[in-house]
Amino acid sequence: MKKKRSILRRCISCRAILDRVNMLRITREDKSAISINSGIGRSAYICKSKNCTQDPKLKKNLQRALKTNFDHKFYEVFIIETQNYK
Ligand SMILES: [Zn+2]
Repeated sequence: MKKKRSILRRCISCRAILDRVNMLRITREDKSAISINSGIGRSAYICKSKNCTQDPKLKKNLQRALKTNFDHKFYEVFIIETQNYK
Protein backbone atom coordinates (compact mmCIF):
# COMPACT_ATOMS: atom_id res chain seq x y z
CA MET A 1 0.00 0.00 0.00
CA LYS A 2 1.29 3.42 -0.90
CA LYS A 3 1.83 5.73 2.01
CA LYS A 4 -0.33 8.81 1.80
CA ARG A 5 1.68 11.97 2.17
CA SER A 6 0.17 14.37 4.63
CA ILE A 7 -0.49 17.93 3.63
CA LEU A 8 0.14 20.40 6.40
CA ARG A 9 -1.86 23.54 6.92
CA ARG A 10 -1.81 26.27 9.52
CA CYS A 11 -4.85 26.94 11.68
CA ILE A 12 -5.93 30.56 11.33
CA SER A 13 -7.00 30.61 14.97
CA CYS A 14 -4.26 29.00 17.10
CA ARG A 15 -1.62 28.92 14.32
CA ALA A 16 -0.77 25.27 14.93
CA ILE A 17 0.36 23.37 11.86
CA LEU A 18 -1.59 20.16 11.35
CA ASP A 19 -2.41 17.54 8.77
CA ARG A 20 -5.12 18.84 6.51
CA VAL A 21 -7.37 15.83 7.23
CA ASN A 22 -7.75 17.02 10.81
CA MET A 23 -8.86 20.46 9.81
CA LEU A 24 -11.94 22.21 8.63
CA ARG A 25 -11.49 23.93 5.29
CA ILE A 26 -13.38 27.11 4.53
CA THR A 27 -13.24 28.09 0.89
CA ARG A 28 -14.29 31.24 -0.83
CA GLU A 29 -15.42 30.45 -4.32
CA ASP A 30 -16.16 32.89 -7.08
CA LYS A 31 -18.64 35.66 -6.34
CA SER A 32 -17.88 35.30 -2.63
CA ALA A 33 -19.86 32.09 -2.11
CA ILE A 34 -18.40 30.35 0.94
CA SER A 35 -18.28 26.60 1.36
CA ILE A 36 -17.07 24.25 4.07
CA ASN A 37 -14.85 21.31 3.10
CA SER A 38 -15.63 21.68 -0.59
CA GLY A 39 -15.08 23.99 -3.49
CA ILE A 40 -12.06 25.51 -5.16
CA GLY A 41 -10.74 28.92 -4.34
CA ARG A 42 -8.99 30.82 -1.59
CA SER A 43 -9.07 28.61 1.50
CA ALA A 44 -8.49 28.93 5.21
CA TYR A 45 -8.03 26.08 7.66
CA ILE A 46 -9.15 25.67 11.25
CA CYS A 47 -8.49 22.86 13.75
CA LYS A 48 -11.51 20.68 14.38
CA SER A 49 -11.59 21.76 18.00
CA LYS A 50 -13.97 23.73 20.14
CA ASN A 51 -11.17 26.06 21.14
CA CYS A 52 -10.48 27.17 17.61
CA THR A 53 -13.93 27.07 16.05
CA GLN A 54 -15.47 29.03 18.92
CA ASP A 55 -12.69 31.56 19.24
CA PRO A 56 -14.40 34.97 19.42
CA LYS A 57 -11.78 36.39 17.03
CA LEU A 58 -12.29 33.63 14.51
CA LYS A 59 -14.85 35.42 12.38
CA LYS A 60 -12.55 38.38 12.00
CA ASN A 61 -9.56 36.15 11.24
CA LEU A 62 -11.54 34.20 8.69
CA GLN A 63 -12.80 37.28 6.95
CA ARG A 64 -9.27 38.60 6.76
CA ALA A 65 -7.85 35.28 5.54
CA LEU A 66 -10.48 34.97 2.83
CA LYS A 67 -10.62 38.67 2.05
CA THR A 68 -14.38 38.75 2.22
CA ASN A 69 -17.30 39.48 4.52
CA PHE A 70 -19.57 36.67 5.59
CA ASP A 71 -23.30 36.89 5.59
CA HIS A 72 -25.24 35.56 8.55
CA LYS A 73 -26.28 32.49 6.63
CA PHE A 74 -22.73 31.26 6.32
CA TYR A 75 -22.04 31.73 9.99
CA GLU A 76 -25.19 29.81 10.94
CA VAL A 77 -24.03 26.88 8.81
CA PHE A 78 -20.56 27.12 10.30
CA ILE A 79 -21.89 27.00 13.86
CA ILE A 80 -24.03 23.96 13.09
CA GLU A 81 -21.08 22.26 11.41
CA THR A 82 -18.79 22.86 14.36
CA GLN A 83 -21.14 22.56 17.33
CA ASN A 84 -20.10 19.01 18.24
CA TYR A 85 -16.37 19.67 18.35
CA LYS A 86 -14.67 19.13 21.66
ZN1 LIG B 1 -6.33 25.79 15.84
